[in-house]
Order: sequence, then structure tokens, then C-alpha cells
Amino acid sequence: MAKSQGERPAIEAGERLHGFYVLRVEAVPDIRVVAYELLHEKTGAKVLHLHGQELENLFAIGFRTPPFDSTGVPHILEHSVLAGSMRYPLKDVFNELHRGTLQTFINAFTYPDKTLYPVASQLKKDFFNLARVYTDLVLRPRLLPETFLQEGHHLEFLDPEDPESELSISGIVYNEMKGAYSSPDALMYKSIQEHLYPDVPYGFDSGGDPEVIPTLTYEQFKDFHRLYYSPSNARVFLYGDIPTLDHLVFLEEMFSGFDRVGCDSAIKSQTRWRQPLSVRGVYPIGTQEDARGKTIVNMAWMTAENSDSEEALLMEILAGLLVGTAAGPLRKALIDSRFGEDLSPVTGLERDLKQILFAVGLRGTDPEKVQRIEALILETLERVAKEGFDRELIEGTLHQIEFRGREIIRGSLPYGIILMGRVFHSWLYDGDPLSNLHFSRLIGDIRRRWEANAALFQEVLRRWLIDNPHRLLAVMEPDRDYEQAREEAFKKKMAEIRASYSLERLESIRQETLRLQAFQTDPDSPEAVAALPRLHIGDIRRTIETVPTAHDRINGVPLLIHDIFANGIAYVDVAFDISDVPEELQLCLPLLGKLSLGMGASSLDYEKMAKRIVNKTGGLGCHLAAGFVTGEKQTWQKMIFRVKALHRNLAEALEILADILTAGDLAHEARMRDLIVEGKNRLHASVVPSGHIFARMTAASSLSLPLHRDEQWHGRTQLLFAKALAAGFDRDVGDIQEKLRRLRDLVFRRRRMLINITAEGEGIELLKEGAAALIGRMTDGGAPGPAAAPALNPVHAGVAIPAQVSYVARAFKAPPYGNPLAAPLYVAARYLSNGYLYKHIRVQGGAYGGMVQYDPLSGCLAFLSYRDPRIVETLKIYADAAAFAGRERVEGAELEKTVIGTIGALDRPMDPSNRGYVAMIRHFADLTDEMRQRFRAAILDTTAHSLQEALSRYFDAALPAGVTAVYGAEDNLRKANDLLEEKLVVTPLLETDDPDRQGDRKNEDLRR
Ligand SMILES: [Zn+2]
Repeated sequence: MAKSQGERPAIEAGERLHGFYVLRVEAVPDIRVVAYELLHEKTGAKVLHLHGQELENLFAIGFRTPPFDSTGVPHILEHSVLAGSMRYPLKDVFNELHRGTLQTFINAFTYPDKTLYPVASQLKKDFFNLARVYTDLVLRPRLLPETFLQEGHHLEFLDPEDPESELSISGIVYNEMKGAYSSPDALMYKSIQEHLYPDVPYGFDSGGDPEVIPTLTYEQFKDFHRLYYSPSNARVFLYGDIPTLDHLVFLEEMFSGFDRVGCDSAIKSQTRWRQPLSVRGVYPIGTQEDARGKTIVNMAWMTAENSDSEEALLMEILAGLLVGTAAGPLRKALIDSRFGEDLSPVTGLERDLKQILFAVGLRGTDPEKVQRIEALILETLERVAKEGFDRELIEGTLHQIEFRGREIIRGSLPYGIILMGRVFHSWLYDGDPLSNLHFSRLIGDIRRRWEANAALFQEVLRRWLIDNPHRLLAVMEPDRDYEQAREEAFKKKMAEIRASYSLERLESIRQETLRLQAFQTDPDSPEAVAALPRLHIGDIRRTIETVPTAHDRINGVPLLIHDIFANGIAYVDVAFDISDVPEELQLCLPLLGKLSLGMGASSLDYEKMAKRIVNKTGGLGCHLAAGFVTGEKQTWQKMIFRVKALHRNLAEALEILADILTAGDLAHEARMRDLIVEGKNRLHASVVPSGHIFARMTAASSLSLPLHRDEQWHGRTQLLFAKALAAGFDRDVGDIQEKLRRLRDLVFRRRRMLINITAEGEGIELLKEGAAALIGRMTDGGAPGPAAAPALNPVHAGVAIPAQVSYVARAFKAPPYGNPLAAPLYVAARYLSNGYLYKHIRVQGGAYGGMVQYDPLSGCLAFLSYRDPRIVETLKIYADAAAFAGRERVEGAELEKTVIGTIGALDRPMDPSNRGYVAMIRHFADLTDEMRQRFRAAILDTTAHSLQEALSRYFDAALPAGVTAVYGAEDNLRKANDLLEEKLVVTPLLETDDPDRQGDRKNEDLRR
């Protein structure tokens, strides 16, 4: 089959072009592309181009990299190749590209069996610049010994100058993985994967086990690159509107000079077991935390081969049926058993493995319940296999898969990345790269099989779960002493190393650290910097992109309407003004959202409601948002419900929303308790992985009302509230119900509503009809009163969490849009993030990341660090950054790169749903297109002088009023307090509810 590519001649299968052989050309109508599968004849490199209309082009080069151990060599290499090649000999090319181009996405990913390097851009020139540098980096990296020490691991003294001081290990990947090894979810997943696939590379941790990482040698690291990083082992994935021929010309040049080399990287299948197995592990909790009710129990199965796309999709459907919704029989049996608090976060399907993994379990349980949980899971599966699945649930699950296949999603990842994931699920294992993309064909085949055989899904259940002995029972128990024991073992090991080393060897460690520091602080040569291809301000569009918005009104309710192509899907936001909600009800707002969506409504119980939702919508959500009205002191606060649906289901989708808002159930106490506990656990589990965000919320909460609300709704205050709710549920349920009723009566009113509609053509008309019906059902009146004004008291906080690393935040008030300082400060924040902080916090400090976040809509600027081994030094770096910024003159190419990078961040592409949503938020903030245009122009016109002036003017005034919050191990917080002038008020993340213990801790404080 042939398809023309614009003006160019069609490419046909069997042709030879620019050194490539065209294996096939095939239309994939479901995602509106034509696929070109090609082979580079000289090297054997494989290429797949999905050519369509998308302006955001994606380039990704990937290699199969199955590891032989848990040293994390694939991961360390992933970091290290980005640190310069012969042609681009800069210490950190990744950071240069990240900060100075129009990239809309640039990253690198290590999987258990592959490593991928994707970049994306909306500008063709920029795209090829990025792809050129990225390809050169992976194929011809320098891999300097210094890079290995910095990214991997090295010994160093606590005081690098003093060989008498404590010996320790540092390294970016080493610290990153220490962070990952603190999270119970990550430890559980790792335990399952490693034990379920013991005889293949999945038995190792490709990311690196902190205990094993220090055994990796520089030679092994270089060998790993030599083995796997050749065009012969490469797969190149391309997506977007750039013609295929342009890609081939480019790739021919990039692969020239390489020959075909033998490389056995094929991923072997794990031999199937005859007997199930069980394992136990532990994870760290706070030394003060109660260990009861904190065990996680999982069952996991190794199932179908990933390259069998139909069987794989059957597994996806089965997982959706069993646990995908509140009506899923396995989810329900587990929750209703009360053996645990809610489902284990390791629940569902993992497809980034050769043989697909399915897992399910409970968290918040105890070791003595393990056998009962296992028995319950097996009995439930047996019962479902006998009785069959609810027909409506099957239809709903198929509808969800159709919806996901059709929806254009561009959240933090480009749509091309999502397609790349689906392609690699089969391509990596030598299956057909396109088989997962033809989803309507796959679903059609499955539907036909189901019609011919009503027991189809029961048979899948028997085949892969009930009759499959390749399964694991995994238990993860909390351990209060884990962290301390680990710390002691580490100290002992370090002492042994020191004892076994001669004085010369110790001295050489000191020398090596000093050399590494010199290497890190040494600037790149101007020639090296100039070697990178780059854009100029003249290449950049000066005009902003706007979202089409029409205004309407139904029954007094304002409507915003955005006519945007969305592939037959429509999005509705219903926003309620909540600015006058009394203080004592503010903390209940997130709960109101969660319960409104998760309980029954309009005489349907929650299970029936869940089935209705999956059958008629692509999902329902609710969230809370607040900000400043631009140019004024006023603020806005909204509770926003969102529903999305295929056009054919719109009327019913809006009816569901109307039922939820007007006739929601608040009586079903057991269900209410489950949702509260689930919400609490989810929030709790997000603290360690998002420690910097929690620290920012804590630090910023006293700076303004919108920031205060953000913390109350989403931060630690909400977590403490949720914990108290869950603990006192039986006693307080009446009180909770009463508050929620009051809140609902206050908020869900017509005079507080705004409706925001995003769809194309007929979808808009259908939505308006549905909106009129929805508005008609709402109670009238309820115009909001004056906003509440709580007292805001700044506190420097230290929040103790069970983690080996810290998250350090310092927040300041910052100017809103419209203020002349806003644009240069926006550029400056990016400059500091990618320059000063990157260098001092990450490269030299060994933290995973350091950044400045500046949001003119909420009026906050914050310094943040992520997985940081240090606290006091980091705060010092923040203070110095401001001084540095006022001193430093950024000009010439450096300034141009920073401005271009800032524009790149502003121009991040959005999917249809997001464009409509952002337009609504701008409406709340009264941020007009004229203001946005002025802001963009001011960024593009930033001069060395305006930047410097903005920095010194802003920081001089703002710095003294900064507020600090640190999330980290209690011990580290106390040690930091010994040195800090502004002492942190240290509390455990979850205050202990045992009054005796609280007393103990006070005494301990006094003793210090
Ligand atoms: Zn990493």
C-alpha cells in the first residue's frame, strides 16, 4: 500500500531509500497515521515512523539493555551518555538542551529491559537539532571517569578536605535509588518483579540496588555501552508530520560510519513454574510510628506473552473487570472483607515486560491476615469463573478501552510517547510493532469471540489466574528499626573500608573528590558550547496561541464554549464558587468531591453507579483550585467537577453528573469509610515520592490565601485531617454527614455555577442541551457571600518522614501577572533552576534535583530540592542563589538560550481537554490574551539589564520574608537545627495519637 506524503512521491514497501529498506507501509486509521516500517541495511537498525498531522514531532532512539546484575548499570549509563560526546564535549548536554531549546519533551527512561531516549518539538529545525545531538550522544558518548563517579557512585569524606572525617558514598543514581528504596510501593513492586522472574534479567533491578551499586566498576560500565549501544541493537520510533524521507536522510547521516555488529539482546522468556511461591520483605516506617495495620499483601501472576496482542488485550480487559472499578468483583470482595484498608498500590497490569504481570492485593493489613487474604482472592476468582461477569460491566470495560484508544491525551507526556509505549510492548520482543495500535480491530475481534462464546472472559480468568501456578504471594511488613539498622550497617561497612585502606589509598579518595569537584566547577569551553546547534530569538513566534472561547448564558449561569477538535469526545467542567465556605468546613471540601463521585446517587447504589459511569463516560473527576485575580488583591476559589464522554453518550453523562450533584447518597456508612480510608492512604503514599511538593505547600501556606487553601486541600494539613477522620469514623460519622450536607447545600447552587464546554461541532450543541437540563435540576440561589479570611502565621517547619533523603523548600511571595517584574523574574527563575541550582544542588550536592518554581497566578516563588542528601548546605545555596542572581550578568548567547527555553516552557502543547480547562482558569484569574501577549513580548525582549535589575529588586525585598519547610528523617532535621539560625519546628508527618509518646518526645527535646 502506498500513501503520498504531501507533495512528495509515495513510499512503497520493497523500496530502497537512503540506505533503508521499506519493510511495509500500512494505514492505522484509529490514530490517523500511516506507518512506515524500515530497516537500515548496513547496520540492521530498525525504524518505525507513524506519519500523520501532529505538529509535535517525536524522535526516540531505544536499545534493548537487559542487565546481568543489580548494579544499575543501565540506569547509570542512561544518565551518563547525556554528559557529552566527542562532537559535543560538554559536561551536561542534557541540561543544555533542556534549558536552551524549544523542546516540548526531553528525557531518558530506563526500563527493566530497555533504555529509551525521546525528544519532541513543534519546530522542525529545533526537532532535528535535538535529534542530531541525542543520537550522537547515545552512539558516541565520552563516558569520562568523572561522569561515572558523579552519576554512579564514589567514596568521599563527609568533609571532602579531611580524610579523618566520616567516609561515605555519593552519586546521583545512588541517591536517587536510595530515595526509591524508601517507598513501600516501590519496594513491593520490586520484590514482585524480582521474585516472579528469577531466571531472566527481570530478576535484577535495572535501576540499581543501593547495596549493589557501589560494586560497579568503570570498566563494566564502559563494556555495557559497547555491548548494547549500537545501531544494530537500536530501534528508532518517530511520530508526527515531518515527511518520512526527511527522517531517512537524517538517519542515514547519523548511522554512517557504523557497521553491523552481533548483539544478542533478545529477552528470554521466564520458564513457567509448576508451584506457587511466597516471599516476605520489610520497608521503613518512622521510629515513632505504630506498626499495626501497615502490612501490604500482594498476589501476582506471570501471564500472557506481550507480543500476542489479542491475548494481552484480553488480560487488560480481565484486569479492568476484576479491579478496574468499584463494581469489580475482586476489588469489592477485598474491600468488603475489611482484611485491609484498601487495595495495594501494586494492583493491575504491568505491560513493560516480556510476559505480562498481573498483581492485586491489600494494604493497611497485618501479617496474621495473609493466609485469609490469599484464600479470599482465590475463592473470589473461583466464584467469578463459575458465575461469570456482569454483562453491563463487560460492556463498560470495553467502552473504557475504546475511549482510551480514541482520546487525544497530552498531559505531561506528548501523545507520541503514549503511542511509543504501545509500540514497544510488542516491538521490543520481536512482535508486530503495529498490532497494539489497531485497537478497534482488536476489540472487534474480541467482541465477536465474546458473542460466539459467552464464557470467553471466564476462560481467560481460568487460563491466566486460576489454573496458572506461576504466581507469587508477597508480603511487605513495616519495620521501625529498618532505617537505623541500615544506617548502622552502612557505618560499619564504611569503617571496615577505612580500616582496610592504606593511608595512601585514603589520600587518593581525598584527591579524587577534589578532582571531581574541580571538574564539576570548571566551565565548559566556549568552543564546546558553540558546537551545539541552536535557535535564535528570530526563530521564535512572537504571538501567543489562543483558545477559542465563546460566551453564553443559560438560566443565568455563564457558559464558556471552546470549539476544538477532540476526536469525537466532549469535556464539561462545572465550577462552583467556594470562596465563602466557612473555615470549619474548608478541610471537608476534598472529601465532598471524593464522596460525591464515589458514593451512589439517585437511588442507585455505588456499585450500580460505578457501572453506569464506565458505560457512559470516559471518567469523572473533581478538584479544587484557587488563585489571584490578576492585578487585584482579590482571589478566586473553585470546586470543579469534570466529565468527559463520547458524543453519543453526552446526554446520559450529564445526567449522571446532575444525579451526583443533586441526589448524591451520603448515608452508606461502610462505603463512606472505605473512601475516606482510601483517600487518606493515597495522600499518605504520595508524600515521599512528591516530598518537594509537600514541602513547598507547607512553606508557602502562610504567604497568601490561595496558597493557604492549596495546602489545606492537598498538603499535610489535609493528610492529618483525613487520618483523624479515618481513625474516629465510628464516633464522628454523624458529624461528618452533617457537615457534608451543609456544604453541599451551600455550594451546589445555580448562582455559584459556571459551565465550561470543550468539544467540536455537534458535540457543542449536544452539550448545550445537556447543560440546560443540568442547570434546570440545580437548586436556585446561593450567590456567594464575602470570602473568609483566616489568619496566616508563618512557621519554619521540619516534617519528619521515613526517608533516607530530604526535600528542602523555601518559599517567597512573588509578583502576579501584569506586574512589570513578572516577565523578567519568570526568565530568572528558569535561569536559576537550570544553571545555579542545577549545578550546586544536583551536580555538586548529589541531590536528584533542585529548582525554582515561580507561579504568577498564585503569587509564589519557591526554591525546592528533591531527594537531597543535605539540608543546611542546600538552604545556604538558596540564600546565595539570590545574591548570585543579583550580581551575575546574563548576556549574549547565554541570555538568548534562557529566553528560548522559557518560551519553550510557556509553549508546552496541550491536548483539547487541557486547552479548554486552561482557558477557564484564565477566565477566573481575569488573565486576558492581551496580557499574555504583553508577557510573552516582555520575555522575548528581556535584556541583561532588565534581568539583573528585576532579580536584585525582587530578591532584596522578598528574601528576608522567606519561609522554610524541610521534609526528611527526624535525625537529619535535628542535626540541621543544631546549625540553623532559623530553627525548624520539628514534628512527625503523622503526629502520634498516643499521648504518652508525645510526652516522651517533649522530654527528649528538653534534654537536647
Ligand atoms: Zn535516574
